[in-house]
Amino acid sequence: MHVDVVTIFPDYLTPLELSLVGRARRAGLLDLAVHDLRSWTQDVHRTVDDTPYGGGAGMVMRPEPWGAALDELTAPGRPPARLVVPTPVGERFDQAMAQRLAVEPRLIFACGRYEGIDQRVIEHATSRMPVTEVSLGDFVLFGGEVAVLVILEAVTRLIPGVLGNAGSLDEESYADGLLEAPVYTKPPQWRGHEVPEVLRSGDHGRIARWRRDQGLRRTVTRRPDLIAKLAPEKFDKKDIAVLQAAGFQVSAADMAE
Ligand code: SAM
Repeated sequence: MHVDVVTIFPDYLTPLELSLVGRARRAGLLDLAVHDLRSWTQDVHRTVDDTPYGGGAGMVMRPEPWGAALDELTAPGRPPARLVVPTPVGERFDQAMAQRLAVEPRLIFACGRYEGIDQRVIEHATSRMPVTEVSLGDFVLFGGEVAVLVILEAVTRLIPGVLGNAGSLDEESYADGLLEAPVYTKPPQWRGHEVPEVLRSGDHGRIARWRRDQGLRRTVTRRPDLIAKLAPEKFDKKDIAVLQAAGFQVSAADMAE
């Protein structure tokens, strides 16, 4: 996957050299370039912002540097790309969106600052390329850089070859619409707390059922909205019993045999 990030703070993206994202880059699985928006300015002060039309607090990012940056990054001969614009007014980021972005051949991220980017940049880009405005959640950050770090970390781990054991993706929270069961490692006893016996039993059938039950219980108590989104036929009889014991009603007529 090719990724370009445009920002006025390129140093903010240096963590992308570390850990598994850094390793994916070195392995050639992720080709990432970070660009300074100010390199597309024309004036001596390298200005990227101005006062908002209509008044109000704060500054707005001017369209010209963004236009020049996107023109250059999408010039003929460059691979086609999707523009990803972090913004609190965007579609909420989740694992499903990470999966959609992970299969794109090329992403260009536009990091806003101040009160955001002049809306005409997004309008114009939409006429030339696919654009996704994406929100990390119902809060406001200083800028899009942290959002890009989050999105890229979630996306990179879905790129084939990045994780040594791709099977771990199938068992993670959200993979099947449920939160993951609790996890444990050695020692078997620690400060009076024991690893559940079933996980040490070697009985793969019991372990799978225990994990499923724990995932269901966690999800129904912490995120009942996720359970409500799952089709009833996703649940077997044992699932239904666990959900009902946790106080969640699923119609017996709907459940899978
Ligand atoms: N004036 C904007 C508003 O009220 O919607 C907030 C702008 S915010 C201070 C500056 C930049 O931070 C945004 O352009 C965006 O790039 C980023 N940002 C802030 N909150 C975000 C969020 N929840 N998700 C994604 N990006 C966010």
